Amino acid sequence: MVKTRFAPSPTGYLHIGGARTALFSWAFARKLGGKFILRIEDTDLERSTQQSVQAILDGMEWLGLNYDEGPYYQMQRLHRYQEVAEQLLKQGLAYHCYASKEELDALREQQRQAGLKPRYDGRWRDSKQTPPAGVTPVVRFKTPREGYAAFNDLVKGKIAVANHELDDLVIMRSDGTPTYNFGVVLDDLDMGVTHVIRGDDHVNNTPRQINILKALGATIPQYAHVPMILGADGERLSKRHGAVSVTHYRDLGYLPEALVNYLARLGWSHGDEEIFSQEQLVEWFDLATINRAPAKFNPEKLAWLNQHYLKIADDVRLVELATPFLQARQYDLPPEEKLLQIVHLLKERVSTVEELANVSTYFFKAIEPIAALKEQYFSPEIRPVLENLTDRLAQIAWQRAAIHQEIKQIVVDHKLKFPHLAMPLRVMVTGGTQTPAIDAVLELIGQEETLRRLRSQLD
Ligand code: GLU
Repeated sequence: MVKTRFAPSPTGYLHIGGARTALFSWAFARKLGGKFILRIEDTDLERSTQQSVQAILDGMEWLGLNYDEGPYYQMQRLHRYQEVAEQLLKQGLAYHCYASKEELDALREQQRQAGLKPRYDGRWRDSKQTPPAGVTPVVRFKTPREGYAAFNDLVKGKIAVANHELDDLVIMRSDGTPTYNFGVVLDDLDMGVTHVIRGDDHVNNTPRQINILKALGATIPQYAHVPMILGADGERLSKRHGAVSVTHYRDLGYLPEALVNYLARLGWSHGDEEIFSQEQLVEWFDLATINRAPAKFNPEKLAWLNQHYLKIADDVRLVELATPFLQARQYDLPPEEKLLQIVHLLKERVSTVEELANVSTYFFKAIEPIAALKEQYFSPEIRPVLENLTDRLAQIAWQRAAIHQEIKQIVVDHKLKFPHLAMPLRVMVTGGTQTPAIDAVLELIGQEETLRRLRSQLD
């Protein structure tokens, strides 16, 4: 059975790139009816934090990337790495190295000066030296000196590296924790991972991992290295490019289905399809259609997709999402029924829930128009018309159609065009010029409040 995994290191937020890798691994497993595992690679004790683990778990849940096994934590498997390291030592496939940091720094410096690539020279590989007292050694893997480590990457094609290019990598640190390359190999092996789908920043590690797997007599999984995501400037996507964490987009009021749709299109495509659901992604997903070239992150396209999903989102869900934003602005919130109508009116006009909260202010409190708007729209000729309208609006049963009827009648009576009245009216009641249909807006603001705002502007 196909088994994939997402194996983040909890050293920061869940990055857009990590989430995309997770999505591809998830989609591949789901498509083939396989299993998807979450594994937290937390052996870097200095950089791993609980907060980051939480951000990963929250992000996965929010994006709907459900896993069948895990989360596993590498720190809970230390005994296993130690056990296998011991076994490799016994078999003569690994050895203790006592070289100090200073010694290795000096070696690297020498190599650099000689124009060579810095690499460990194997000084403890077959050494008969007596180990120095008081030094806890690291364990190094005996990389074969002949032959090749080769694999057929499902995205990049054939890759082969001559073993003599590789040095004897450290597999266990002196503190008893495994290095990335060793931990990942044992985990993938023990957990039965069949397809390793990950960022191509790891492609140089793969030959080393294959050599270790071979030493263990294990079956080699398939590999798919996914090209990086770049910012608009062509540099690898990072904090410099603005928001790159999944939780940040959640907190701005992006919908998870928009982010999933967007991430799926980052480096993968299915014909010309731009808008598709998570189910369609699963149906269409194929490693063979992952682009070989890096993808560019485009926040405008993400916002465009989010706008699409907001438009079709259920109003009840939008009220739920918008409420914390509105509460943070300390508005007096009307009953649910009214909030439903407000989000329904506004959802077509915004690209995030935060923006929806921003543009909804006039429903909850009066906004004084800026002087320039007053100057532009409150001409002396329009004033009596607005007074007339105010009087008439005070007499009707408050309902959208009736409001519309009154405005239309006044426009006719005064031989105006609809916008000549609608714009000043809008500015007076909402403080701005950008709103949905004015009759619908007035209906929701309510008769008493509409009249109060009009009168206070006419005073
Ligand atoms: N912990 C590694 C990372 O976050 C995982 C790499 C892998 O998938 O093997 O980059």
